[in-house]
Amino acid sequence: MPLSDIRARIAEAETAAGRAAGSVTLIAVSKIQPAARVEAVLDEGQRIFGENYVQEAALKWPAWRARWPGVSLHLIGPLQTNKANKAVELFETIQTLDRPSLAEKLARLAQGRGTSPELFVQVNTGAEPQKAGILPDMADDFIAACRMMDLPLAGLMCIPPDGEDPAPHFAHLARIAERNGLAGLSMGMSADFETAIAHGATHVRVGSAIFGARSPRPA
Ligand SMILES: *Cc1c(COP(=O)(O)O)cnc(C)c1O
Repeated sequence: MPLSDIRARIAEAETAAGRAAGSVTLIAVSKIQPAARVEAVLDEGQRIFGENYVQEAALKWPAWRARWPGVSLHLIGPLQTNKANKAVELFETIQTLDRPSLAEKLARLAQGRGTSPELFVQVNTGAEPQKAGILPDMADDFIAACRMMDLPLAGLMCIPPDGEDPAPHFAHLARIAERNGLAGLSMGMSADFETAIAHGATHVRVGSAIFGARSPRPA
């Protein structure tokens, strides 16, 4: 679907939810997409992108950043502590802060560099064992601990369980953000970003609806 159609759908969802025009940021999820598709979207003016893998982003983005100034990259895939070093250099935003050991590592890096990417805490709203994210019951304490470390928290992120109505998960994430005074809500993907906007999403992460289906991840 053309980028302009996605933008129009976001604008309609903002209006329907009684929210200000432009209050939702579109993150174009470019993981494992052919270069030509990503370049076409850059040519159309999109500058905010999401990537899942540190290594893949490190290979692709330096050249694209040089050609299309103003790019801002969000890490939306799980971050191994031993890749945090590289991640803080590559990404303007890390959305997958999900455990104390990673918070400590990011805090040490921030101290050493004098700057940090903007951070979202990932919450495992479905409490799925195989999924990353802090459990909802632990979120308040974890957020408080991150603040004690002076980490720049912008908001919360979630990926609802496959095959479930995402709406209760979006509502739950919004409640956790609200009671912790966090403004950012990264939720909603190709299949459900309008529902997420109705529940207060400030950032939607849309991949296949913009770029087409992804081929399987190369080995
Ligand atoms: C891949 C991915 C997306 C985009 O998914 P689509 O269904 O292609 O829009 C969004 N968020 C995360 C965390 C992802 O891994």
